[in-house]
Amino acid sequence: MLTKAQTISVMTAAILLFSIFTAFPAVRIVAALPDLGSIAAYIGGDKVEVSSIAKANSNPHSVEVFPSYMAKVSRAALYLKCGLGLDQWSDAIIDGSRNGKIVVVDCSNNVPVLEKPMHVDASMGDVHPFGNPHYWLDPRNGIIAAQNIVEALKKADPSNSALYESNLGRFKAECESRYGGWKEKMKPFAGGKLISYHSSWVYFAAAFDCAIIEHVEPFPGIPPTGNHLARLVEIIKKERVPLILQEPYFPDDAPRFLNRQTGIKVFKVAPSCADVKPGSYLDHFDDIVNQLITAQGGK
Ligand SMILES: [Zn+2]
Repeated sequence: MLTKAQTISVMTAAILLFSIFTAFPAVRIVAALPDLGSIAAYIGGDKVEVSSIAKANSNPHSVEVFPSYMAKVSRAALYLKCGLGLDQWSDAIIDGSRNGKIVVVDCSNNVPVLEKPMHVDASMGDVHPFGNPHYWLDPRNGIIAAQNIVEALKKADPSNSALYESNLGRFKAECESRYGGWKEKMKPFAGGKLISYHSSWVYFAAAFDCAIIEHVEPFPGIPPTGNHLARLVEIIKKERVPLILQEPYFPDDAPRFLNRQTGIKVFKVAPSCADVKPGSYLDHFDDIVNQLITAQGGK
């Protein structure tokens, strides 16, 4: 015979087990980029299960599509696309997943697009045909992406709408507050001129009041030529450009050549965060800002 206390504890355990097995399953989200995945993880908390496709240390323009990515998307409710033509490989993954119910969220919706071309010109390399797609490197655009994600999450899982809205408020407040700190640290760069390998950093530069005046690539996606590098040597000397930002997946030859010719420092930095943990998107700005200050010889 069970005592009254034992009966209550058995019943409590049974109710707990029942609630675990009948709990609403997490919303499965696949993000094209870890940055968008990290924002989704922040907003969704324990109500979502997030993974991403592109890696921080590989070129987000050219991701090889594997069947395992399609399998992942076949079980997902939401796919977070970068948009603006950056991740055309996302379409191949989504089509290949044969998931007729997947909701595709274009996270670039409502982002103020920089370098929007007047017309698409094939001679420009065409990897930025709809304007510059590297918008997540301005933390203010991270908030816009978060708003797009929240709208989709509320439709996918209406019962947790209030939680998603509340987490969006927290994300926005934390992002704005930390942006203030990053701007303060980046003051030595304000009004300054930089060069980047690929045109990944125009939104970052706009966020921190500096200018990317040239690129090692003559056009986005086109490798440097001897003539272009000779021109860059002149520009770097004339404008006293202190740093080249080099995405780690590009070859070292051209930045090394420019360093030898002009003394310009080469700063290798990944334009994406390393994983989809909730804090990773914001922590990545800490890393970039701190490393930039160090690279320039500041504190
Ligand atoms: Zn690009």
